Amino acid sequence: MQGHDLKIPDYHMHTPLCNHATGDPREYVLHAIKLGLCEIGFSDHNPMPAGFDTLRMRYDQVDDYVSMIREVQREFHHFPIFLGMECDYAPGTVEYVGDMLKQHDFDYVIGSVHYLDKWGFDAPETIEEWKRQKDIYSIWKKYFELWAEACATGLFDIMAHPDLVKKFGFIPGQNCEELFRTALQAAAKAGVIIEINTAGLRKPVGEIYPSLAFLQIAHQLKLPISFGSDAHAPDEVGMNFKEGVALARQAGFSEAMRLQNGKWTAYKLV
Ligand code: ZN
Ligand code: FE
Ligand code: FE
Ligand code: ZN
Repeated sequence: MQGHDLKIPDYHMHTPLCNHATGDPREYVLHAIKLGLCEIGFSDHNPMPAGFDTLRMRYDQVDDYVSMIREVQREFHHFPIFLGMECDYAPGTVEYVGDMLKQHDFDYVIGSVHYLDKWGFDAPETIEEWKRQKDIYSIWKKYFELWAEACATGLFDIMAHPDLVKKFGFIPGQNCEELFRTALQAAAKAGVIIEINTAGLRKPVGEIYPSLAFLQIAHQLKLPISFGSDAHAPDEVGMNFKEGVALARQAGFSEAMRLQNGKWTAYKLV
């Protein structure tokens, strides 16, 4: 893996505070430096109100999370490390999340849809539930409607793993381009960044989030992109970014976004 020298930032990685990631933040940083990434950002899972799962930090751990990241920022002060958070969108939780985010000076926020009516549809334990579903298209439709609502909240800079609903390979037979287009129009209106998330390659579906078809529409609508590995272990940082860049290029993109002096700025993909 050494010598890739990918001058690309990875804005999506976790810490053990979410109860389903391993490794110290400093190990994530060391792996990023080894790969030649230009900078990284941590984006661990936010606390949610009662009724959601515990695969996330608790509200009273937000301060610990921030101090943990501040500590690696001090230790690796020549390597840019941003403080982000991956926050769930679910109807009725926007105010809770918004208030929580105000407590600290986050550099950016990644928005995710992991729940359909409180069904954590991307949890591995839920495969049986998927197998019982008769109408996969209507699940996808519901997912992309929520995703569009998430864009419109104004809470998020980046929208994570845009077609996460494909994770276990339950893909409708119907053409989904209208679903994609409607969702992406909401994204364009909200001015969010579309994440190319390479974690999908490590999941049953075996492909990057989002698909080429989704990304081509994003490109038509002139949406910006960023890259995220969604690392839940140190050696997953920057993983498969070459494939991510290749997919972006295939969809027509020649640049992506990075955070510079507090502003999202385009850089050329090489
Ligand atoms: Zn996670
Ligand atoms: Fe996620
Ligand atoms: Fe994540
Ligand atoms: Zn994620």
